[in-house]
Amino acid sequence: MTAFEETTGVANMILLDNCDDKKLIENLKKRLQKNIIYTYIGEVLISVNPYKTLSICNEKLMLKYYNNNYVEDMPHIFAISAKVFKSLKEYRRDQCILISGESGSGKTEASKMVLQFIVKATHGDHIIQIIKDKLFVANSVLEAFGNAKTRNNDNSSRFGKYMDVQFNPMGYPIGGNILHYLLEKSRVVKQAHNERNYHIFYQLVNGADKWLAQLLEIDKDIDYLYLRTENNLTSFDDQIENEDTQKYKETLQALQVLEFDLEEKMDILKIVASVLHLGNIKVRRCGEVCKIENNSTIRIVCDLLGVPKDDLIFALTNKTIKAHGEVIRSHLDVEMSVFAKDALAKAIYSRLFEWLVTHINKTLKTIVGKKTGSENKIKSIGILDIYGFEILQNNGFEQFCINYCNEKLQKLFLDLTLKSEQEEYLNEGIEWTNVEYFDNGVICDMIEERHKGIISCLEDESLKQTDACNNAVLLNELARRFKDHKHFSCYQSIDSHKKIKTILPTEFVIVHFAGTVTYDASCFLEKNNDSLFGNLSHIMSNSTNNIIKSSFSNCQTPSNKIPETTINQFKRSLNKLMKTLTSKQSSYIRCIKPNDFKEPGEFDDEVVRNQVKYMGLIEILRIRKAGFAYRSEFQQFLARYKCLCPDTWPDWSRRYTAVAAVCRLIQSLGLGAQDYKIGKSKIMVKHPHTVFEIEKRFQVA
Ligand code: ADP
Ligand code: MG
Repeated sequence: MTAFEETTGVANMILLDNCDDKKLIENLKKRLQKNIIYTYIGEVLISVNPYKTLSICNEKLMLKYYNNNYVEDMPHIFAISAKVFKSLKEYRRDQCILISGESGSGKTEASKMVLQFIVKATHGDHIIQIIKDKLFVANSVLEAFGNAKTRNNDNSSRFGKYMDVQFNPMGYPIGGNILHYLLEKSRVVKQAHNERNYHIFYQLVNGADKWLAQLLEIDKDIDYLYLRTENNLTSFDDQIENEDTQKYKETLQALQVLEFDLEEKMDILKIVASVLHLGNIKVRRCGEVCKIENNSTIRIVCDLLGVPKDDLIFALTNKTIKAHGEVIRSHLDVEMSVFAKDALAKAIYSRLFEWLVTHINKTLKTIVGKKTGSENKIKSIGILDIYGFEILQNNGFEQFCINYCNEKLQKLFLDLTLKSEQEEYLNEGIEWTNVEYFDNGVICDMIEERHKGIISCLEDESLKQTDACNNAVLLNELARRFKDHKHFSCYQSIDSHKKIKTILPTEFVIVHFAGTVTYDASCFLEKNNDSLFGNLSHIMSNSTNNIIKSSFSNCQTPSNKIPETTINQFKRSLNKLMKTLTSKQSSYIRCIKPNDFKEPGEFDDEVVRNQVKYMGLIEILRIRKAGFAYRSEFQQFLARYKCLCPDTWPDWSRRYTAVAAVCRLIQSLGLGAQDYKIGKSKIMVKHPHTVFEIEKRFQVA
């Protein structure tokens, strides 16, 4: 280690002498103290959130990385972006960048930097510029509607996002597509202490001009229940108010760029306002039945949503079910009525979000269809920014979904990097000592295996128990199925003499790859069913607000068709995503949150150690250190570098076989025997710097 590295840390941790977490953490700490937030492990980029603005994101720097290929001693998001972009252009392979890390670690900021690079690094005509503008502002809309202030992050994304940017053969962005995963619906009606609802609500309340406020009948001085956190009245502080107002303008501008027309914009804002009003509807007991107290509020809701007032009042206070061809009506009690109202607010908002994404995708698609005839030559770069592993004080259905997703991503990562790496050495006939690592496939199976896994169990119970949900039955069934599973336990499955006090009868425990999580199952079935009373859906599907109407039209399914449950839908979309990702060449950015207090420059070893552990960084390091930094098929290698040796230029095939040509080329480049290995079809180079040397010569030649 040089004196410089002694104080500043090494840029690539495969250069560390030891593969332990202490050395790795120390290295990250040294670097953060010097304001260097990026470090490599092999080709995986580690990014530590500095919680302060550093001058690491400007166009000059972008250009530098763009021109310099992959600068080994200067890890950067732009370096990864440049590498990915060049692979796309030169080797015509689809790419994806997977960004992971816990909430507040800097994933979304990283994803925006990647996008910025892609947009800035390419030129193109007027049409290309339009698509670039759209790609860029799509994020502002998604953030306004899908991000909120949480304990961990003032701008926390409450949904998973996969953004595909499509390129024409010249490498210009010509379109895009966004997939979103599991928007956190519960936030619409309730937030934890010191957290906020989605940004758009505050933006609208603060930013709407007088005319609009009048039309939507909103007022800053009204106390909106849905904006009120527990024991905490809506507090609008001046500075935050100004920020929200500013952001409101940006959101509207973004909608403009994305070609939402005036009517659509009005429909969107009406829905947002209607949710606020819905929250203020009061229900009171009135003899045997319940009654809505504030007539004017429900009138506003109905005006905004374009539905008949009497119908909505009826649907919020009564329930009708069809049984044996007869319609049976029953009154709701106050609790059920409030539940119905909240369910409606959540459904309206989440469908609005879905509609927004669909609409954005439509405008991102136009130019692909219209302007280029050669769609088959389109290549893409996908950017995945998705919630990291979560262990909270109280873990419910949402955490189960999020952690399931992270198991899948970990499995994909292992499959794509570690496993395939080891298999490749084997296939190439190169000597290799196996590196042991934990394959989390068993946990994935336990969760998602068809007819057997936790999800199938949840699904069965959800379908069986359509009326009143009984989560105890679910737990019993889980206990029965997974009694002997190493990664599962619950109160019911533990022998009575061993009962651990810490597990309650309503809980179950999964030993995830990243840690042990206790889940509270008491609302699992309700949340999985997440159904709206049928008559509410029906009313919405006849709304005069076009967005509401189209978003609920699919609800009018024939009664014999069972609606898909949340977890099944999630499983399906997740598996589709895994397929997409598997088909692409993947690059990784792993984000780390250095402390729990959003404190600039503060590095808490323990907080980091946890993340290092559950991101499997030590395992990556061990494998990378044992392996080779670079590999290329003979033909590919020759195609690029044959000009560096007179014997292989211009046509090596007249004198040599491919393997002989590579050997000749390598020899003339002066590589030592310890620097590389020749396999059956590929050349592998040990150290990254050797590759940069070759690449440098190529650039000069
Ligand atoms: P995540 O998406 O992982 O939850 P974000 O990307 O939203 O986290 O980052 C949380 C906050 O941390 C940001 O709002 C910003 O204040 C800060 N932050 C993240 N990355 C950087 C960075 N590269 N430079 C400066 N601040 C950052
Ligand atoms: Mg985020």
